[in-house]
Formats: sequence, structure tokens, C-alpha cells
Amino acid sequence: MSASRVGLDPEFAKKLNLFEKKLADHGIKVVLTWGYRSIVSQNQLYAKGRTAPGSIVTNARGGYSWHNFGLAADYAFVINGKVTWNGPWDVFGKIAQQCGLEWGGSWKTFKDRPHAQWTKGKTLAQMRAAASAKAVRK
Ligand SMILES: [Zn+2]
Repeated sequence: MSASRVGLDPEFAKKLNLFEKKLADHGIKVVLTWGYRSIVSQNQLYAKGRTAPGSIVTNARGGYSWHNFGLAADYAFVINGKVTWNGPWDVFGKIAQQCGLEWGGSWKTFKDRPHAQWTKGKTLAQMRAAASAKAVRK
């Protein structure tokens, strides 16, 4: 259940390669479960537990997640050949931060331990503005 890296920011993808290598150096094997997510699929995800069946999985509407800009990645561990979310998240988070990534597990309100992102020093509002300017120019 490995996700595609298509749509990820190339520089971010490089950081993820380093991150995964460092984890492997610590004997930790991970698998990418989510990378880029379109605004449409982000909205579908946001609907879960709200207007669609299921439980709430995200607090971000389309355009409000770094996944929508190819700058976020979610992981799971592979332990004894099985994909699991029970693993050494503290080490995962520490190494993510060493690689210059922001770790969702460090958030105060909505802890998202499988999540790592790289904002390039920008805000989501700036990213949305840049994306809609691009759409207008097309
Ligand atoms: Zn995520």
C-alpha cells in the first residue's frame, strides 16, 4: 500500500529520501501512505464524518493542507513485513525535524504523528494565492 510520489515538490521529495535513509540507518522501515492530494480529493476527505459516512480524518478543507501543494507526506511503519501505525513515533519525529521537516506529532491541537511537511517558509494563504494566480494565467 505504498503511495505514489507523483505530484510531490521535487525538493521536498529529496528531503523525504534523506529522511527515509536516516530512518533506515536507525533500523526503522517506513512506507509512504499519502503524498500529493488534489483539492478535490482533500474536500472528499474533509467530508468524511461530516457530510459523508465515516469518522473525521482531517481538519483541513481543500487548499488548507500542505498535501494539496505536494509538500506533505504521511507514513506508516513496516514492522515484521506488516504495515502498522504502532511504532517509534518519537524517533520518527526527531529525525523528521533533523531533516528540516515539520512533524505533525509536534502540533498542539490536532496531533498527526504520521505527517511530515515542509512549508518553504511560506503560509498556506500564500500557497493558495499563488495557485489561483497560476490558474488565472492558464
Ligand atoms: Zn498528512
